[in-house]
Amino acid sequence: MRWPGRARATGTRLFVVYAVASLVPVVALGALLADGIRQDARDRGLELGRAQAAVVGEMVVAPALQGSDLTSGLSTQEMARLQRATDLAIFRGSVERLRLRDFDGSVLFSDDGVATPEVVAGGRPRTAADRAAEAAEMAGSAAFRVAASGDAHVTILDGDSAGIQVFQPVVGDASGRSVGVLEVVLPYAAIAAEVEEAKSRTYWRLGAGLAVLHLVLAGISWSSTRRLRRQAAESAHAALHDSLTGLPNRELFRKKAESAIRRSGGCAVVLVDLDRFKEVNDTLGHHAGDRLLREVARRLAATVRSGDTVARLGGDEFGLLLPGIADPADALYLVQRVSEELSAGLVLEGVPLTPEASFGIALHPADGDTLEELLTHADAAMYEGKRGTSAVVVYDRALTGAPSHHLSIQHDLRLAIERDELRLEYQPQVDLRTGRTATVEALVRWQHPTRGLLPPIEFLPAAEHTALMGPLTEWVVSRAAADCAAWTAAGRDWVVAVNVSARNLHEPDFGGTVALLAGQAGLRPGQMQIEVTETALPVDPDAAAAALATLAAYGFGTALDDFGVGYASLSHLRSLQLTEVKIDRAFVAGVAEAGEDRAVVAALIQLAHGLGLAVCAEGVETVEAAVWLQQVGCDRAQGYYFSRPVPWTELAPDGHWSPDRPATDSRTKVMT
Ligand code: C2E
Ligand code: MG
Ligand code: MG
Repeated sequence: MRWPGRARATGTRLFVVYAVASLVPVVALGALLADGIRQDARDRGLELGRAQAAVVGEMVVAPALQGSDLTSGLSTQEMARLQRATDLAIFRGSVERLRLRDFDGSVLFSDDGVATPEVVAGGRPRTAADRAAEAAEMAGSAAFRVAASGDAHVTILDGDSAGIQVFQPVVGDASGRSVGVLEVVLPYAAIAAEVEEAKSRTYWRLGAGLAVLHLVLAGISWSSTRRLRRQAAESAHAALHDSLTGLPNRELFRKKAESAIRRSGGCAVVLVDLDRFKEVNDTLGHHAGDRLLREVARRLAATVRSGDTVARLGGDEFGLLLPGIADPADALYLVQRVSEELSAGLVLEGVPLTPEASFGIALHPADGDTLEELLTHADAAMYEGKRGTSAVVVYDRALTGAPSHHLSIQHDLRLAIERDELRLEYQPQVDLRTGRTATVEALVRWQHPTRGLLPPIEFLPAAEHTALMGPLTEWVVSRAAADCAAWTAAGRDWVVAVNVSARNLHEPDFGGTVALLAGQAGLRPGQMQIEVTETALPVDPDAAAAALATLAAYGFGTALDDFGVGYASLSHLRSLQLTEVKIDRAFVAGVAEAGEDRAVVAALIQLAHGLGLAVCAEGVETVEAAVWLQQVGCDRAQGYYFSRPVPWTELAPDGHWSPDRPATDSRTKVMT
């Protein structure tokens, strides 16, 4: 994995700061230990001096004195023995100077034979008084007093006279009683060398130990900053990428698209939606579905140009961002190439498949200034493609009407649902055999605060391809179910028909939602019919068929609305779980007079009956049309001739139509 440059720089800086900071206590510790070692070395030097002086006392001085108590000075023989022994010791290098003093500080013996120089500082001859003063000064010194009281006093002399000076009691005989003070200066060089060597050995060990400690600490810090850096980079990557395909996710797509829009060199935003993905998931399992998504991701990423972005926006929806493409022809050419590459065959779980997708393209700046606008328009283009026109569709304003208008409608409509500004009007479907109202169709209106009562054409197209369709349809189903429960309680047995859009059929468990809402109003499924327009079917025929089958299984009536104007093939009709077909008013309008429309409508009725479906004719505006439809065996009719859509309380309670008494019993706004 590559780390982003900034994370790497921050990590290195962090490590350097840590390494320098951890060096400070390590160096301080080193200094403290070094000071201790110096102190120890000095103590060791003193100790060696003390021991050596003791040896000199015992081996050189004591044998020469042979038990003399020094009270009456030294005899000539004692002096001579001492001189010999001292000379030998000096010759061997174990002593540099040796003096013997009595407890008054007076020199009894000095290795150089002369107790003190014979002249004092000013050049004047040394007098007895001088000697007495010097002896008194010596007797008063701390070192001398220590030795006189029975202990040894050791000092290291620096400078020219470097050596170890020891004052120690002189033990004359076996009684252990001290008889005077021995002052020796021992050579320091050997001791110093020994101590120095020990010191430098310890310094080396300490230095090496501290260096290793620092390296270990630095190593630990390096590896933990590395780990932290990797974790930070991984979570930053995960936040912006899809875990299944590794592609950028919606968030990263948004960022990249917004920056492409800001650079204002033009760009294409493309929405890609796989066809029949649900079928793969349902029949081959989620594992196969995942494999298909990964393969699609790979193919898309392999086909786009190097600076383009492929993102997984969710489910089976992908997004392409093509910077620098502002011309529809260029976009179409590129995306068609991607589409062709995508649809190369593959085998999933032993089943040969052709992955296909619908591509909707919106161009910046022509189709929008913001990413939201571009996505809405790419979505509209993609849905247009799903309707069967083409796999790749470039957005065209004519597709969805005035686009900016749409955005504000969507915004207002969302508020309208919250503020309960929607209304339902109902239009009866008359049973042509009995002349009675069989079903009433719920048609939504918007009681707009400033524009008055708006028909669906004013606001549904803007909502049609958006997530708004979910809450809107749920509102309609609930309201219609409640109204139906109310008229049932008032003694009317009308079934309520509700229109739903293509988008609803793609919602997961749409049938379950309808069943729940109808049940909450106390309705039996048989009291509700769901109408789906024929033009909604090609969006995703399999999803639509599955949703219809679920609704039918619950027991709801299912009607194919606006039949004849769309693309539903006859074989397709057979594969759908329908109970009714509603013939579009485009054909019905013409049946009042003899002509082609009569032939088409008669054939459609025959066909539907042949498939066991009931037929309702829409848009019946005249008595002639109603009579003709009744004659050719049409089951039901709906239209202004019987009643315009009105609030259900204004519907004729027990309307009974017959050609002789045409719709006059309806208290509603009957066509004149
Ligand atoms: P539709 O489901 O085909 O509804 C029939 C439409 O034809 C209604 O228009 C109705 O007023 C109109 N109509 C009925 N009889 C006649 C007639 O004799 N002559 C003429 N010229 N028109 C007649 P409306 O209410 O404007 O609804 C238009 C379309 O909006 C509906 O067509 C339906 O597709 C859709 N729609 C209405 N309400 C809803 C709804 O709640 N949800 C959804 N998804 N779509 C709805
Ligand atoms: Mg309808
Ligand atoms: Mg219709």
